[in-house]
Amino acid sequence: MTLIQEPKVKSFETRLFINGKFVESSDGRKFDLSSPATGEKFAEVSEASEDDANAAVAAAKAAFPAWSALSPAERGVYFKKLASLIIESHNELAELEAMSMGRPVSIYFESYAAAETLNHYAESGYQALGTSSLNTPGFVNMTMRQPYGVVAAIIPWNVPILFLIGKAAPALITGNTVVIKSSEKAPLTCAKIATLVEKAGFPPGVINIISGHGQISGNVLSHHMDVRVISFTGSGRTGRIIQAAAAKSNLKNVILELGGKSPAVIFPDADIQKAVEETKHSIQWNSGQVCMANSRIYVHESVASTFIDLFQKSFAKIKSGDPLLPDTNHGPQADQIQFKQIQAYIEEGKKVGKLSMGGELSDSTNGFFVPPTVFLETPETERVMKEEIFGPVVHINTFRDEDEVVAKANDTEFGLYAAVYTKDINRALRMAKKLEAGNVGVNCTSPTVAKDLPFGGYKASGLGREGWTVSIDNFLETKTVLIRVEDA
Ligand code: NAD
Repeated sequence: MTLIQEPKVKSFETRLFINGKFVESSDGRKFDLSSPATGEKFAEVSEASEDDANAAVAAAKAAFPAWSALSPAERGVYFKKLASLIIESHNELAELEAMSMGRPVSIYFESYAAAETLNHYAESGYQALGTSSLNTPGFVNMTMRQPYGVVAAIIPWNVPILFLIGKAAPALITGNTVVIKSSEKAPLTCAKIATLVEKAGFPPGVINIISGHGQISGNVLSHHMDVRVISFTGSGRTGRIIQAAAAKSNLKNVILELGGKSPAVIFPDADIQKAVEETKHSIQWNSGQVCMANSRIYVHESVASTFIDLFQKSFAKIKSGDPLLPDTNHGPQADQIQFKQIQAYIEEGKKVGKLSMGGELSDSTNGFFVPPTVFLETPETERVMKEEIFGPVVHINTFRDEDEVVAKANDTEFGLYAAVYTKDINRALRMAKKLEAGNVGVNCTSPTVAKDLPFGGYKASGLGREGWTVSIDNFLETKTVLIRVEDA
C-alpha cells in the first residue's frame, strides 16, 4: 500500500542520548527503519556500539552519587516536568509509533499512561522506608533501603514508552540512575523521550537512552559489571539469555516480563455478548501484538456455536490500513520478521486445525498486514497451541466441564494472564484459584490490569512483579544495621 496520510512530523531524533548529549554511534554504524505499512525505508538510526553502551553505563555511574543524594521531592520535580512535556508531545509520539511499528494513531494512548505513571512516582519516593526492631536485648536494630546504583532496562517494541517510563520512573525516584536500550523495531518514541528528558533538565547521566540491537548493546548491558539491576520485557528466548548473562557476570538482579499464551474461558452462564466483545478486543488490539492477549479461547460446548458466530462477526469489523489515518483501528504487524513468523504459524495451523476465518495473507510488499484469523478444533498438543504467535490469530476450542478446561488452560509453560466469564461467583473464585497465571480476569480479560496491583507471570512468563505499588521495591537494596546500646 502507499501511505495516504502524510505524517506531520518531518524531522525526528535518531541519535543516542548519553551523559546529557545527543551523539552518533562511536563507530558511525546505523540501522535502517522501514515503514511496516509500505515496507519502504524512511530512517537511519544510530546503532550503539560496545563503547557507547559502556559510556552510557559510565555516565550513569558518575551521576549516581549526586542524584541519590537528592530528596525524593527534589527528584520528583523533574518527573512532573517530563510528564507535562510528554502530554504536549502526544500527537508527535503517536505518529512516530505509527511510522515505526504501525500502531494506528487512533489507538495511541501511551503518552497519557506514561505521564500518569511519572506523576504517580513523583510523589511516591518517600515509600522507601526501612524498619526498626527492639527485639534483640541490648540493641536497637534497623534496616535501611538504598538504591543499587546503575539500573539497565531493555524494552520491546509493542508499547515502548510505557515500558521505558514504567521501568525508569521507580528506579529513578528511589535514587538509581538508568540506561535504557530501546527496541530496534521502534526506537523513535524513545529517542523523542530523550529530547524531553533534556528539556526537563534532568542532570546529565541520570537517564541515558540508547538504540540498537540485542547484539551488541543489549548484550553489553546484561553482562556489565557496573549494572546492578536489569529490568527486561520481551520474549522468553531473550529473557533466558539475559538471566544467563547476569549469572555469568555479577549476578545482577533480574526482573523479567515475558510472553504469554493466555486462555479465556467462557461458561454457558456468561454474558456472551460481553465476552465476545472483550475477548475479540484482547486479541485484535495492537494487531494481536500484546503479551497478555487471549490467544486461546475455551468456550463451553453448549454455547460454542453462538459464541463463535458472534465472535467472527465482531472480529471481521476492523478498519485496516494506513496507521496514520484517524479512522484506522488495525495496523500492520511491526516488521517483516513478525509477519513471516505469523505466516508460518498460520500455515502450520491450517495443517493441524480447522481454519474458520481469515488466514489469507496478502503479499508483504503491500505492507505487513495480517487479517483477523480464527482456528477451531486444534488439538491441544500442537505447537500452535503452545507457542506465542503474537498476531491477530486466535484458537477457539470447546470444553464440557470445569476440570477439563482447567487442565487445558494450564497446559502451557506460559502463565501471564487468564480470564474466566461466568455469573457463578463460586465457580469464578474456584477458577481464579486454579488457573496458573500471574493475573486472572473475572468477567473481564486482558488488557484490563490494575495499576496498583502487581503485574507479572507465573512459570516461564516471567520473574518478579512490576506495578505502582511493587516496583519501588525492585530498585532498593536492604541493609541491616545492628546498634549495640550500652547500659546506663
Ligand atoms: P525480544 O526479546 O526479541 O526483544 C526485546 C528486547 O531485547 C529488544 O530491545 C531487543 O533488542 C533486546 N534483545 C534481543 N536480544 C538480546 C540479547 N541477546 N541480549 C540483550 N538484549 C537483547 O522481544 P520483542 O519481539 O521486542 O517483544 C515481543 C515479546 O515481548 C513477546 O514475547 C511479548 O509477549 C513480550 N512482552 C511481554 C510483556 C510483559 O509485560 N510480560 C509486555 C510486552 C511484550
